[in-house]
Amino acid sequence: MKIDIPTHFCPQPFNYLHTSVSGRWKPCCRTDWSKKAESFEEWWFEDEDLTQLRSEMLTAPGDMCKKVCQVACTNLENKGVRSYRNDAYDDFVSDSKAIELIKNFKKTGMSVSSKRFITLKPKGLGNFCNLKCFMCPPHLSSSRSTEMIKMSNDTAKIFYKNGIDDLKSSIKINNKQIKKYQELYLEIIELMGNQLRGINLSGGEPTMITGFTPILDKLVESGHSKEMNLFFNSNMTKMSLLENNFADYFKEFKNVDIQASIDNVGKYDEWQRYPTKFNEIEECINFIRAKYPKVYLSANTTWSVLNIEFVEEINNFLKTNNLNLATPFNFVFQPIALSAGNHPNKKALIENYSNSNIFWIKNIINELKNTKFNEMHLYSLGAYAKELDEIRGTNALELWPWLNKYYD
Ligand code: SF4
Repeated sequence: MKIDIPTHFCPQPFNYLHTSVSGRWKPCCRTDWSKKAESFEEWWFEDEDLTQLRSEMLTAPGDMCKKVCQVACTNLENKGVRSYRNDAYDDFVSDSKAIELIKNFKKTGMSVSSKRFITLKPKGLGNFCNLKCFMCPPHLSSSRSTEMIKMSNDTAKIFYKNGIDDLKSSIKINNKQIKKYQELYLEIIELMGNQLRGINLSGGEPTMITGFTPILDKLVESGHSKEMNLFFNSNMTKMSLLENNFADYFKEFKNVDIQASIDNVGKYDEWQRYPTKFNEIEECINFIRAKYPKVYLSANTTWSVLNIEFVEEINNFLKTNNLNLATPFNFVFQPIALSAGNHPNKKALIENYSNSNIFWIKNIINELKNTKFNEMHLYSLGAYAKELDEIRGTNALELWPWLNKYYD
């Protein structure tokens, strides 16, 4: 059903229930803007900023849209790159529940519906991960934070304004809050369970984060899971899916949607997502497809300065394994030093990609074209890669010879 809603509209503040890792509330997973609230009800039903943001979504973009959406979505759209909002918008307007939600908001000033419309995104329940991906904010992975703490403060400053000190305080917050946030999410399920349409897990590695277990168990025991979608990203290592019983939850949910994190091919992926083993990804794909044929599998690629030159190779791997690339495109823009658009040979890449027939190539070209080049960022990247190589015994220069200029 076609709905007449403004083109700048985003449904996320209406149908996404999300906390940040530090337990502050967020209108969506993309924005850095967040706010403290005493309770779920205070945030969802009473928060003035959230109400203003929702109103602006239905009238004209104002201060709240700017604060929340500028960096995460508007800037991307201005570059000609598809944003998270674009996908969420298309999804929303094709859903028959949309009209009711908008009508209810106009009438009550609150986001309420008689149908299942909310996606729950629990955060702050742990950051366990067996990988140390080079572009991942270190506090989001237990292995990576342990490694980063031993690195130089200059390297840590690529990710945090105050370097190692900021990382340490993030870790402290992470560890302290797990029980508190489990209670919060259990309470939300109690109160709003019959309005939940999905749960979206991210990590760390969601399949290995035990903090999610009571939440998933509660959804199963209450029967809500049978009406809900389970969505998560996975690093597709043996430990995450083959040697773990997380997959037992799949039969409990109406639909299961897994986005496999694949950032490159072969030894390049193994450097970027150290210490992954690339052959395990195919093993995991085959395992899921054979044992859980109803599960929808796609790939999520995080585009950074190290894989933007391998678009064709990545696309070939995805095609061979029958994996669609998830949208919207996940470009690294924080930290800026690792961003895809800062590749030293970007002119040649743009020229080369202009002849590609990959249907999504325009997003890559626009990101390359419209991101300002800053050579200082490449020096930060080079020093960072060198430090990682020293700690891990790897050799980035064999893989990316152009890094040589920036390696010291
Ligand atoms: S437009 Fe983007 S940043 Fe704003 S609420 Fe939607 S998804 Fe979040």
